[in-house]
Amino acid sequence: MNTNEEKFYKLPDLPYGYDALVPYMSEDQLQLHHKKHHQGYVDGTNKTFKKLEKARDENVDLDMKSTLKDLSFNIGGYLLHSLFWNNLAPANDGVGKPNGILIDAINDEFGSFERFQKEFTEIALGVEGSGWAALAYCKCTKRPLLMQIEKHNVNVYPAFKMLLVLDVWEHSYYIDYKNDRGKYVDAFWKIVNWKKVEERLERIIK
Ligand code: MN
Repeated sequence: MNTNEEKFYKLPDLPYGYDALVPYMSEDQLQLHHKKHHQGYVDGTNKTFKKLEKARDENVDLDMKSTLKDLSFNIGGYLLHSLFWNNLAPANDGVGKPNGILIDAINDEFGSFERFQKEFTEIALGVEGSGWAALAYCKCTKRPLLMQIEKHNVNVYPAFKMLLVLDVWEHSYYIDYKNDRGKYVDAFWKIVNWKKVEERLERIIK
């Protein structure tokens, strides 16, 4: 049996300080994004878990369709943000390009790193409203595939493992770049932690 604490989500710590991604991501922007927005999805998920628990305890009906829609949205937000922080690294640590099995997989699928970067940038810029660009991995075909996620949960291929995700909700860049998503995406490429992305792929294909 899980302890009560284990049954709920917690905001994970960042793997670096709030000022670690300056000048590409400011301390204010990162603090707000992590402490308010990411926390919001943690709280939203836990609130829905508690709502389900209460309805089951009291044996009353819930609007399951809307409850599960909320849950999918909030869990998606929680998980994607947890991945996103780990995809980033201080500019000095970030190796400029992927290496090892990651670059092999990218080259096999996209033809070159430049082509992958161009396509990923295009889907990031093209998300209508709020969402994410993602590089995922299909274990059946052993191929990395792009995903353009709307909100946190729409257009997701179920069970595909995420390798690299980029938050393009305006809340992730408006302090630093106002409404200029393009500038934010350019900055993102300077702080990708390719080593972590490669390690994630290694764990997936093991
Ligand atoms: Mn976000």
